[in-house]
Amino acid sequence: MDKNILGKVQINGKIKCLTGLHIGASKENMEIGAIDSPVVRDPVTRQPYIPGSSLKGKMRSLLERALSVELGIAGTTKRRNIGTRNNEIWIHVCDSAEDALQCPICRIFGSTGHNGGKNFPARLAVRDAYLTGDSVEKLSDIDTGLQYTEWKFENAIDRVTSAANPRQLERVPRGAEFDFELIYNVEDLHTVEEDLKNLALAIDLITLDSLGGHGSRGYGKVDIVIECIKGIPVESLKSDTIIAVEIKSLKELSSLITTFRGKSSGA
Ligand SMILES: [Zn+2]
Repeated sequence: MDKNILGKVQINGKIKCLTGLHIGASKENMEIGAIDSPVVRDPVTRQPYIPGSSLKGKMRSLLERALSVELGIAGTTKRRNIGTRNNEIWIHVCDSAEDALQCPICRIFGSTGHNGGKNFPARLAVRDAYLTGDSVEKLSDIDTGLQYTEWKFENAIDRVTSAANPRQLERVPRGAEFDFELIYNVEDLHTVEEDLKNLALAIDLITLDSLGGHGSRGYGKVDIVIECIKGIPVESLKSDTIIAVEIKSLKELSSLITTFRGKSSGA
């Protein structure tokens, strides 16, 4: 399938932790009685970060749940286990590239065809989100005995034996801020508006849900602020002078989409 790239939409902003955030470096489902559960860290700086895959996965699953009835995929077989046999994680995946192109979820997040189906690459790339300089400074000053993070003591009670299983979870403290970046490939003008609106919906849904582990116990409540959205037509990328159109909110989408419309005529 030919992929015509009309341009890129670059979305930048901040993710602010309103409660402690735990994105695990190893297995999320801890054994009861495990000593600790560390957060994922950059191997060079040792700073905690939010992997792009975590952010993208959360956006996908929330959007899937929001749209599945409308798309007619609720309870159907268009689902695949991307987890293991013991720890199942079911996501919706279209079987063919043709179906994926029609599907608002696979179009944005991609699909891996099986039974001879073709892969459909994602239009969306989500970068790893790193701590802002300001947050690095603030977190360097806190005295928890850990680098940039805090311990949270949890006490799980065995529902059968009533035995207490105290454990320690590492988390990024409330107030920490991360810079995030999304890059969306504009491939056709008929779907760009719907895709970007769905991206905005996915971002809104995260703020009403949670990021990372232990959301049901209050972890991972975040505020996500979009600070800049840039539309960069492909012609501009090819030339020396990059002409980008900037908007402040995804609610101003129509003016952004116009820039691609202007460039694609006759293409
Ligand atoms: Zn799909």
